[in-house]
Amino acid sequence: MLYQRSSRLFAEASQVIPGGVNSPVRAFKAVGGTPIFIKEAKGPYLYDEDDNRLIDYINSWGPMILGHAYGPVVNAVIERAKKGTSFGAPTALETEIATLAVAMVPNIDKIRFVNSGTEACMSAVRLARGYTKRDKIIKFAGCYHGHSDSFLIQAGSGAVTFGTPNSPGVTQGTAQDTLLAKYNDLDNVAALFKANPNSVAAIIIEPVAGNMGCIPPSKGFLEGLRSLCDANGTLLIFDEVMTGFRLAKGGAQELFGVKADIVTFGKVIGGGLPVGAFAGRHEIMDYLAPSGPVYQAGTLSGNPLAMAAGLEMLKALNTDSAIYQRLDEKTTYLEKGIREKLDTTGVVYTINRVGSMISVHFDATPVTDFSTAANGDNETFKKFFHGLLQEGVYIAPSAYETWFITDALTYEDIDYTIEAVGKVANNLK
Ligand code: PMP
Repeated sequence: MLYQRSSRLFAEASQVIPGGVNSPVRAFKAVGGTPIFIKEAKGPYLYDEDDNRLIDYINSWGPMILGHAYGPVVNAVIERAKKGTSFGAPTALETEIATLAVAMVPNIDKIRFVNSGTEACMSAVRLARGYTKRDKIIKFAGCYHGHSDSFLIQAGSGAVTFGTPNSPGVTQGTAQDTLLAKYNDLDNVAALFKANPNSVAAIIIEPVAGNMGCIPPSKGFLEGLRSLCDANGTLLIFDEVMTGFRLAKGGAQELFGVKADIVTFGKVIGGGLPVGAFAGRHEIMDYLAPSGPVYQAGTLSGNPLAMAAGLEMLKALNTDSAIYQRLDEKTTYLEKGIREKLDTTGVVYTINRVGSMISVHFDATPVTDFSTAANGDNETFKKFFHGLLQEGVYIAPSAYETWFITDALTYEDIDYTIEAVGKVANNLK
């Protein structure tokens, strides 16, 4: 496949946009080459500026769980747009989506909408600090919670791909309030509590990590964090920006049966428009302005276009209870197929998967945390990525990312993908 027009567009973009992109991972820095410029998308496919059709395993990094240009979402946005795109005043639509979200997700009474996952996590931490009157937070190496200062301490996703785990611009003062723990290591978290008595406001965690590849929580890990939080008067924040409405209607809380105190959302909840949200029990959420003292606001928060898109998405997920099973079956089938092809080559690999989140690591050891994720062979990954791209299969351009499976993907698409992996696999060694 040729990507000439994309290359030209990237060169033009680089003149006026830093690095040619508005979010770093899009630039293909980790894998080399120039990014693909997308013209349009429908269902499981992207169509690029060179008129190539690509089977999409990124799906806008998660939101497109029902495929691109999903009819009910598109229609809702068009109809709402005709009536005005933002009022800076409340609408009934906001209560409608809030009511549905609260009904779908366990352990939440109230939800506040914002414009991105970053904002959701940043606000959740401020709320936890205000509520507990403590300053420190515990985050896990390799977890990404957006680009707010307190989270850019050994963050995953683009922050690690680009080798800037501690970004310039984050002050020492901010960094010292973020305590770093090892994913899947309860003893490590317990030691941090011991060393910082009565000062940890919250633990923030991706209940399934999706920003260092896909890393499942080991058995008992989330439960252990819950107990440690309870014993220390600390709030447990589940960052469900990726997992929310993806792993189950009620996200990771439902899947693992572990209660969080605050849950953050993004991606799926906005149906592809810029939306984030954070939610929790009455007494915590009522700590927010205007009912409480912790300030948080947004000119475009809860705007009708975003709320209309999100509402249609949540309605679809709430109505068709077989979606999650279908997603799981499709991803299981994909995983099995990839394993069969890679097994014939002798290349060392590990595949991690939880529901419709999956990642392929070129490393023989189990990938359970940031350091084992970092062991993967990036040269092999690059060949794998570019090989698949040549076959018209678009996976995330970094080994530190998760693939997101969409319900729009057909078994024909998956078979095609598995065959493509087979072709590419022969050139990996
Ligand atoms: N949390 C998690 C778990 C994420 O994966 C992301 C983005 N990939 C964010 C937070 C930040 O969301 P956004 O990019 O919408 O700011």
